[in-house]
Amino acid sequence: MAASDIVVIFDFDKTIIDCDSDNWVVDELGATELFNQLLPTMPWNSLMDRMMKEQHSQGTTVEDIAAVLKRTPIHLQIIEAIKSAHALGCDLKIVSDANTFFIDTILEHHGLQECFSEINTNPGFVDEQGRLRIFPHHDFTKSSHGCDHPSCPPNMCKGIVIEKIQASLSMEDQKKTIIYLGDGLGDFCPSLKLGDGDYVMPRKDFPVWDLICKNRSLIKAQIYEWSDGEEFKSVLLRLISRIISIDGINTNANIGQLYSVDCKLNTMALPATTGHEAFPQALPVLH
Ligand SMILES: [Mg+2]
Ligand SMILES: [Zn+2]
Repeated sequence: MAASDIVVIFDFDKTIIDCDSDNWVVDELGATELFNQLLPTMPWNSLMDRMMKEQHSQGTTVEDIAAVLKRTPIHLQIIEAIKSAHALGCDLKIVSDANTFFIDTILEHHGLQECFSEINTNPGFVDEQGRLRIFPHHDFTKSSHGCDHPSCPPNMCKGIVIEKIQASLSMEDQKKTIIYLGDGLGDFCPSLKLGDGDYVMPRKDFPVWDLICKNRSLIKAQIYEWSDGEEFKSVLLRLISRIISIDGINTNANIGQLYSVDCKLNTMALPATTGHEAFPQALPVLH
């Protein structure tokens, strides 16, 4: 399979960056107390718009917010992994419950923006008054997005986004393989939509990993866990190498250890689909 037939879809918060961008901005601007006070009264997405309104009225500029975003913690190995996957020719996309302003600012700062062909998230833009507005990806004030999975927020079902991506990929001649990476509750619904030729990379010991472990029988995709920037890079790049070489084309890919999850057996094992010699050994999954 050619690298261009591999579509890698990333969550953003706590996957590409090492924190939640909403919490990061609120905390760095010293607005945590108000945020926590208002959180029980409105949906998260509406609250972020409200917080930006409060900040604007206190004199915080969009430049101040951008400066905070540029300090967001991100692992160097993750930047390298994204650039490598892009350079190999994979199609990279983001599906995130953050917003376009936060994501674009951070990606641009790290020279990553050109790596992605598509960013699906909540719209965020600066209005005429210079106030950052954040709107829902799906306007839940008009209608429900139709997914009643408890882990999907009202403003965005990532599973519906994945189905749309899958529908557009199916129009193309070549069959595509999806690799999905995420950490949060909202990443469970899209994981359920992946097919048996696809791969899901849940962040170990994070909410989506727990849900996947408890619902193994519902997941058709092969599961490979990762826990930090180093594993993000090694697992993703080795997985890509492996998918490219699956058709028997010798790519001289250095396929080392992969971290596959088998929660039930408490061991890791790779499916014996090929006779490749360099396939990894089973390792225990620690709980
Ligand atoms: Mg996340
Ligand atoms: Zn959903």
